[in-house]
Amino acid sequence: MATTSSPVRVRFAPSPTGFFHIGSARTALFNWLYAKHTGGTFVLRVEDTDKERNTEEALRVLFEGMRWLGLDWDEGPEAGGNYGPYFQSQRADVYDNYLEKLKATGRVYEQDGALYFKVSGEPQVIEDAVRGRVERLEEKDFVIYRSNGTPVFHFVNVVDDIAMKITHVIRGEDHLSNTSKHVELFKALGAEVPVFAHIPLILKSNGPGKMSKRDEGALIEDYQKRSFLPDALRNYLCLLGWSPKEDREILPVGEIIELFELSDINKNNARFDEQKLAHINAEYVRQLPIETLAWHARPVLTEAGLMAEDASEDFLHAVLSISQEKMRGLDSLPEFLGYFFTDDYAEDAKVREKIFKKGDPCARVQEALMALESLEDFSEASLEACLQGVAEASGEKIGSYLLPLRFAVSGVGVGPSFYSVLRVLGKDIVIRRLQRFIQAGG
Ligand code: GLU
Repeated sequence: MATTSSPVRVRFAPSPTGFFHIGSARTALFNWLYAKHTGGTFVLRVEDTDKERNTEEALRVLFEGMRWLGLDWDEGPEAGGNYGPYFQSQRADVYDNYLEKLKATGRVYEQDGALYFKVSGEPQVIEDAVRGRVERLEEKDFVIYRSNGTPVFHFVNVVDDIAMKITHVIRGEDHLSNTSKHVELFKALGAEVPVFAHIPLILKSNGPGKMSKRDEGALIEDYQKRSFLPDALRNYLCLLGWSPKEDREILPVGEIIELFELSDINKNNARFDEQKLAHINAEYVRQLPIETLAWHARPVLTEAGLMAEDASEDFLHAVLSISQEKMRGLDSLPEFLGYFFTDDYAEDAKVREKIFKKGDPCARVQEALMALESLEDFSEASLEACLQGVAEASGEKIGSYLLPLRFAVSGVGVGPSFYSVLRVLGKDIVIRRLQRFIQAGG
């Protein structure tokens, strides 16, 4: 394997398209992890030679997505650094200088206005940190400058890796087939060949083929919009092609940084699994400190029209702390917790059907209502004792009260511990909803 004794410098070199795709984010992440692991430098270089697609908006999507995922770059646009500019569109003079160097070796010739690089005729051996040894012979000379005078991808990519002193090229496997061309250029320019690590493709969740931006769940901005926790998405992305030993999946990023070695990256393609991602996201939500959870939940509930902007933080904390252990994603909060904030919540028709199958729920609710009206102390213990008493008095099981009551105060059949729901809703609301249920005849 190529080795290098200089400090690690890696780069993420996206061509902005207006989308920040799961696959690109994973490439950025693996570079970032490796830089952190080695104490090296993570460079962001924008390969924006395709002028049409290179818009302000495309850059904004990229930068925001990276920052949201916590993938801050040490050098690059907006961060600066000694090897800029970090936009290929601003580096024409660098490319021209390197072209002169290459011409001096006698391996550049012109044909039909384009400039060609004359290949060595030797097979190139790449000791890829992921793929292992890959050997490939470039048989044909290839274009490095088009007849319109602009340099092509292979040339600018290699020149920038040399000029920016990149030591490790970590990128998608789709570039493996370009690598022998790149190695030819590194050698011809008298530069040290970096370590290559070609990371496996991400396959779509169902069926064969690489995940594309059209596939559901492919864009980072969708997760931003759906209030996924960026730490959770980043944790999941780590698992697409890499895994810690012992089948662990959820682990703090500090630990991932410590463990992350290029040699542990899988050769096999990774398959995108939205359910696993949702599961990891839910785990992260359940582990948040309550203040952080409230900070994330408030905008979700406000945007759903459930909470006033200035609604009480104490009430929000109370709701969240009784429901956190059963939460899924933050985007499910309006549905899961809506009834704490409005009387006008949706009802689960299946639960309604179920409680009416078992006799008249209104009678049960009426008995409970009478007992609760005279109950002063709405703590869990007191509520439980009160409802137990109601059940015993009529010789019924407590279970036959709980579902009708839960449905009457929340419109659903599941949720946080029922006595906690009653406590947090408070006596006034509970009484009002039980009365409403009875008046409506269920
Ligand atoms: N601009 C190329 C891409 O987005 C980068 C290739 C590389 O990382 O060397 O695929």
